[in-house]
Amino acid sequence: MRTPVPDQTLAEAVDAARAAALEIAGTGGVGDHLDVQSEGDRVVTHWFGCLSPGYRGWRWAVTLARAPRSRAVSVSEVHLLPGSDALLSPQWVPWSQRIAPGDLAAGMVLPKVEDDVRLEWGFAATGEQDVDALALWELGLGRPRVLSMAGRDEAAQRWYSGAHGPSDPFAEQAPARCSSCGFYLPMAGALRAVFGVCANEWSPSDGQVVSLDHGCGAHSEADVEARAEQTESPILDELGYVEVERTLDP
Ligand code: SF4
Repeated sequence: MRTPVPDQTLAEAVDAARAAALEIAGTGGVGDHLDVQSEGDRVVTHWFGCLSPGYRGWRWAVTLARAPRSRAVSVSEVHLLPGSDALLSPQWVPWSQRIAPGDLAAGMVLPKVEDDVRLEWGFAATGEQDVDALALWELGLGRPRVLSMAGRDEAAQRWYSGAHGPSDPFAEQAPARCSSCGFYLPMAGALRAVFGVCANEWSPSDGQVVSLDHGCGAHSEADVEARAEQTESPILDELGYVEVERTLDP
């Protein structure tokens, strides 16, 4: 396809185009004239380099037009556009995709994920009072979605390999496991076989989900080694001071 020839009057109006770019860029922001190209009948775009340090590789584009049988040039548009080697900002990623576990703070609300594989549809009312009452009780008091098998497995894996599983330093040095601890509250449901909650305020795991093979030094049946018994009582005089035997140097 042949490149259309730019309108001669507009192609020669480089100074008018530069003046329009300078109006936006300010003095010193517009570089050399790089090119001119036709956009159609009596419409051309002039290209200039951009001298702003923060816009390396960008170019000023000034589009000029004129009416038929008129030599008066008018400015249609002025833009700063990136060239092929322009310095560009990284691609925008919405915050809902950037947020990670641990980022949630008080007052924040996370976006709802409609197709979250960790959840599945819960109970839909049938209208039958007895059936509905049973289902509501079993599935969690009318929550629209409940934990799916995938969501449960993911959580179990995360908890087991985390700070309250068997590989934590507290657990590795514990005198006994949570499974034999009186402060261990077993969970309800399928996860009961492996997990419970620690209810000992002296434990670093208090209020956390712990695995049966986790453990810590605050285990209900653990104790420190008994100290050697004192065999002789100190002799006190009537003022309460300890009587000390003096030994003389030979
Ligand atoms: S006190 Fe220690 S051993 Fe007992 S349940 Fe809590 S973490 Fe487990």
